[in-house]
Amino acid sequence: MKQGIHPEYKEATVTCACGNTFKTGSVKEDLKVEVCSECHPFYTGKQKFTDHGGRIEKFNKKFGRK
Ligand SMILES: [Zn+2]
Repeated sequence: MKQGIHPEYKEATVTCACGNTFKTGSVKEDLKVEVCSECHPFYTGKQKFTDHGGRIEKFNKKFGRK
């Protein structure tokens, strides 16, 4: 790899809207994200976001969830 072509790849601190921080590799030093693995409903199983148009309610009914 030649020097000076690629941006420097360094460790970035990612700050999530939930307050969680974690490290990742990036050309930027600091990143901000809306969701992370600590607060994303897919990982937590909690409902965090506004249910627009009852789509989630329908989904839950369809799959028998309360
Ligand atoms: Zn988060």
